[in-house]
Amino acid sequence: MTNTLTDQLTRDLADRAATLLRGLGAEPPEDGELTARTPITGGVLATLPADSPESVDAAIGRAAAAFGAWRTVPAPVRAAVVRRLAELLTAHKTELAQLVTLEAGKIGPEAVGEVQEMIDICEFAIGLSRQLYGRTMPSERPGHRLMETWHPLGVVGVVSAFNFPVAVWAWNTAIALVCGDTVVWKPSETTPLTALACHTLLRRAAADVGADPEVHQLIQGGSAVGARLVDDERVALLSATGSVRMGRIVAPRVAARFGRCLLELGGNNGAVVTPSADLELAARAIVFAAAGTAGQRCTTLRRLIVHADVVGPLLDRVAKAYQQLRVGNPLDAGVLVGPLINESAHTSMRAAIERALADGGELICGGEPVPGFSEHAHYVRPAIVRMPAQTAVVREETFAPILYVLTYHDFDHAVALHNAVPQGLSSAIFTGDQREAERFLAADGSDCGIANVNIGTSGAEIGGAFGGEKHTGGGRESGSDSWKAYMRRATNTVNYSTELPLAQGIQFG
Ligand code: NAD
Repeated sequence: MTNTLTDQLTRDLADRAATLLRGLGAEPPEDGELTARTPITGGVLATLPADSPESVDAAIGRAAAAFGAWRTVPAPVRAAVVRRLAELLTAHKTELAQLVTLEAGKIGPEAVGEVQEMIDICEFAIGLSRQLYGRTMPSERPGHRLMETWHPLGVVGVVSAFNFPVAVWAWNTAIALVCGDTVVWKPSETTPLTALACHTLLRRAAADVGADPEVHQLIQGGSAVGARLVDDERVALLSATGSVRMGRIVAPRVAARFGRCLLELGGNNGAVVTPSADLELAARAIVFAAAGTAGQRCTTLRRLIVHADVVGPLLDRVAKAYQQLRVGNPLDAGVLVGPLINESAHTSMRAAIERALADGGELICGGEPVPGFSEHAHYVRPAIVRMPAQTAVVREETFAPILYVLTYHDFDHAVALHNAVPQGLSSAIFTGDQREAERFLAADGSDCGIANVNIGTSGAEIGGAFGGEKHTGGGRESGSDSWKAYMRRATNTVNYSTELPLAQGIQFG
């Protein structure tokens, strides 16, 4: 594409972003030092002001002040804000999804799916608002009641990554708000416009139901802006989604001030394919999990561990499907793989493939840039590399569509290979053998936070707890009882007798 055509397309996309923002109720931002780009052309959509240390402190202060009253609003009443947010998201689904496509490069169906995930978590949170259950335990003392109560925690700092620019915010915010917390959100500096849209919708939802809009604050900028949330004593919980590198910096700092951390970090997700697997189904699942979202999901399938007897037929199917994947502008119908987010992602992908080949890997397909796009955009064909061993590069997360293929003969070896990486987010087994399936899910099977049978590693539903072990950080968010991370637990003993028996039968005096 010529520079003139690229510039024209970028201008069109910038106009479209401004129109979408207005449709979502947000004024297009004023000029500033933060740049919103579109990976579709690599060009600039808008610039906007970044927050200063002072404005971040003020935002945390407003959230802390709002918490004082918000925590006493009954949880089912707090849910009204989330219910209204769900209505607004439903009404503006297409516009918000298009903004996600413009800013993060996701294809239409995946961007719409991400907004649907926001609506789903809102619905979950609304129901949850009547189910923030504590327990009552039998007391060992007569005339006593022993119970626990869950209370709002405080200000929740949410730091999010570029690749799920809206859903991860909604996972945290919908749950935090019904739990009685207030939120300060630091989105990825790569996706500030979608953040502005979400913030506007939430503030509107609060205003529409007569709640205090200050329960939500947005701060924009890079890691220095996020770092102020990390270090601020007023932030009771820091929920941080991003790379292991970020988590390594953030976790000890929050721990040093005895704050709470919920970490959702990188994955290096594997799938085991056994001889009894339905290869047709496995191939379809593998292609979506490995090449979908251009390999830029934390749950993207990066390692395939296949029994030697079926590796040939499976790879034939997967490689054939890879050849047919349409890579291109995510706004075009029929495109299944959009661009990488930026040049650095492309450089990492190239470097990883070179290292894999130097380790004796064989490039089965992909890895090459797709011609016909702006020189500042990064469209690549998803790659498959067959590896002789799980070398260092395979054990790292490269945030791009590279699928490494390893073979095994013995099931125990497959499980050992699967677990022999530092990350522990998502995993899958494809098998028709119930023993193998159960073994993979058992205590000595997959060591990941997510372990699936006969579906891929990506595309989790919101009903379950989401997160992973080891370098993935151990956090759980979204469904199940993840809400407990957003509340504090008090144990209460009530004496309704006229005696004062001490626990453990202690006699005092
Ligand atoms: P990133 O780590 O570069 O940035 C994530 C966020 O952290 C951004 O908002 C960034 O500004 C902020 N940040 C970075 N350093 C910081 C610091 N020192 N203090 C405070 N904030 C800081 O990640 P990315 O490139 O945006 O996203 C890709 C990564 O995120 C991948 O590793 C992917 O696996 C991971 N991810 C994990 C999950 C999950 O749920 N486990 C979900 C999405 C993405």
